[in-house]
Amino acid sequence: MSIDPWGSEIIEDYERIFVDFGVKRIPEYIRTGLKHISFERGIVIGHRDFEKVYQRIVSGRPFINMTGIATSGELHFGHKMIIDIFKFLKDCGGRNYFAICDIDAYVSRPDSRIPSLEVAKKYAVENLSHALALGLDEKDVYVQSRKERRYYEFAFELSKKITESTFRAIYGHLDIGKVAANLLQYADILHPQLPEYEGKMPSVTVIAAEQDPHIRAVRDIAARLPYDFELPSALIIVHLPGLKAGRKMSKSEPETCIFLRDPPEVAAKKIMNAFTGGQPTVEEQRKLGGKPEICRVYEFLKFNHPDSAMLRKMYEDCVSGRILCGECKLLTAEFVKQFLERHREKLKDAVELAERIVYG
Ligand code: SF4
Repeated sequence: MSIDPWGSEIIEDYERIFVDFGVKRIPEYIRTGLKHISFERGIVIGHRDFEKVYQRIVSGRPFINMTGIATSGELHFGHKMIIDIFKFLKDCGGRNYFAICDIDAYVSRPDSRIPSLEVAKKYAVENLSHALALGLDEKDVYVQSRKERRYYEFAFELSKKITESTFRAIYGHLDIGKVAANLLQYADILHPQLPEYEGKMPSVTVIAAEQDPHIRAVRDIAARLPYDFELPSALIIVHLPGLKAGRKMSKSEPETCIFLRDPPEVAAKKIMNAFTGGQPTVEEQRKLGGKPEICRVYEFLKFNHPDSAMLRKMYEDCVSGRILCGECKLLTAEFVKQFLERHREKLKDAVELAERIVYG
């Protein structure tokens, strides 16, 4: 069995990544040791070899913080957690590399989705402007299509270390565009350890569970390169679920997700129409309580609201029937509205800067 990192399927049963692929669960000492909502709230669920990065964090020694996004569509709240964790790891002492993957997005996606590199670059500007408005520092960002020669040289070097059979075994197919995209992804993850950059050093990349095949592949390659590299580590996060029952956040179904460019009132409306874990009637809700575990409004807050005490109270109020879904949705809609109003302000300066970074 393989996971397709480019497929539309998302992993419903996260047990599979532990049982079938050997991802490790986040140990309690790390979960409580790193003060970020992603650890505290169980959003980071697994890791590969992260202990050595954690040791660096607690001993105040540097490590490589390398993550990125493929610019294959507009940025939505499902992407925000990757940026939030990147910023947190930077504050933990990371040496930072955030890749805006425009070439990857173009060569690995069908033409029906990304018809040209120019379209991928337009998304790069869109994605990057939101990421900058969310607090990413321009010094920590690079765009694949504008990366220096040494990176491309290195990507070609990597091609000698992955065979057709390894690629098929990990990904289940051999698509030339995806092979090319992968070589860049492996270069993204490994190049910070080249002598021209940071040199040999533990590194961490934050990924969604579907991306785990890339980490398995890049660790395999790293061990066979003529460089003395640390095997790269990964943190694996769960997805922010879509706002509708049984649906993931999907760019092609705008009602399932909130885009960072959504007007605040539109976003608030999406929250008001979201699937909840509420009971069919007020009486039943008061008597039986709701089910926050399946509620998309609660999940949205879990991924985005900074106040853990407020979230805990909402959970308790929900299961005990003290709060009704209408009230809860209004509160969440107001939260997202205010967030996006502030975000719009920050976006004004970010667009020009993003254009400069992408086009030079
Ligand atoms: Fe969800 Fe709130 Fe309704 Fe509970 S009360 S099910 S958390 S919307």
